[in-house]
Amino acid sequence: MDCIVVHYSEIGTKGRNKSFFEKQLSENIKKTLGNKVKKVYKGYSYVLCELNKEYNETEITLILSKVPGVAYFSYCIRTKLDIEEIKRVSIEMLGKEKFSSFKVSCKRSDKRFEKNSKEINEILGEFICENLKKNVNLKNPDIELFVNVCNKDVFIYTKKIKGVGGLPVGSSARIICSLSGGIDSPVASFLMMKRGCEVVFVHIYNKTIQQGVLSKIDNLVKTLTKIQIKSKLYTVPFEDIQKELIKTVNSECRMIIYRRFMIKIINEIAKKEKIKAMVTGDSVGQVASQTIENLRCIYDASEIPVLAPLIGTNKEEVIDLAKKIGTYEDSIQPYPDCCSFMIAKSPETKARLETIKRIEDKIKNKEELIEKSILKSEIKEFC
Ligand code: ATP
Ligand code: MG
Repeated sequence: MDCIVVHYSEIGTKGRNKSFFEKQLSENIKKTLGNKVKKVYKGYSYVLCELNKEYNETEITLILSKVPGVAYFSYCIRTKLDIEEIKRVSIEMLGKEKFSSFKVSCKRSDKRFEKNSKEINEILGEFICENLKKNVNLKNPDIELFVNVCNKDVFIYTKKIKGVGGLPVGSSARIICSLSGGIDSPVASFLMMKRGCEVVFVHIYNKTIQQGVLSKIDNLVKTLTKIQIKSKLYTVPFEDIQKELIKTVNSECRMIIYRRFMIKIINEIAKKEKIKAMVTGDSVGQVASQTIENLRCIYDASEIPVLAPLIGTNKEEVIDLAKKIGTYEDSIQPYPDCCSFMIAKSPETKARLETIKRIEDKIKNKEELIEKSILKSEIKEFC
């Protein structure tokens, strides 16, 4: 094969903004594949990756199948706009495959070619039958030969490899993620990347009892950086706030107030980063803090919208996605828990906002505590 044609679906519907999305996708593919391919550029309603003489198909496929914005892609042979050349390459390609029935599916992205799709299907069908002694089966063929006629080239291929679809990272606004070491929040981040957002990560941890957790968080962010190209991670120590919560808040409500503080910290970082929404890995009912009543109390602490793309998913669905995007293995690595020691065995599941606010009001110097922990935070860049 000499190139990969990358097709996008949703970008095609973006009207006058189409070329902005196409350019972004093409740039992202160039950055993620690096020197694994010879050249990447925007073509005629596709992105083209020219392959080196030697290339690692498994590695390239694994990367491309996770790039947001890619609907599907195909390893192809490129030919001239010439029916004799198209016939020759079709035979060369199918000659290497084992099959008895086939179908030709031609698509003209540029309609100026002298023959229309139906005519090309018929010409090639007849030619393949005669030369390779195979049968046409339009309903259930063993193999399908795709012929894509564009303005300057024709691309011929037999396999379409599915991508994740959606929009290229960088085509929507940046967003900030409350990243725990668990399975959910990395998947929630990925879903936002798939909607074109670049995600900035914030992990909040207890520096005294959670030594070692940061290498796990680094690994998660590294895996997610393969998808979004570059990442920024804030790690914010939380032990001083925890001490204050243990003193002032009854154990039943600690988790809720603890998460309200996390959200306030993230809001402050969002302000600094000029980010206008945050994302969490919450899913209704998954743990006590995620009942609708409790989520209402937690999200109330945020000035910016809190997006929770996993809100209606089941854990198995999230695990499946985590395995697909490669974060599952990092997420299941054991790490010291930061808060189970301070949470009640039967935590509040139907918190009332007025009660939560009343308890929270008893905590002195809230703003100062938040400011101090942000001052102690560390920033890391990944690319
Ligand atoms: P995950 O939900 O990512 O699997 P988890 O199950 O350990 O992790 P939950 O108790 O479900 O975490 O927390 C709900 C959400 O709160 C997380 O998805 C994440 O967005 C946020 N969160 C929890 N812990 C932290 C933390 N230490 N730092 C930043 N955000 C956190
Ligand atoms: Mg969770």
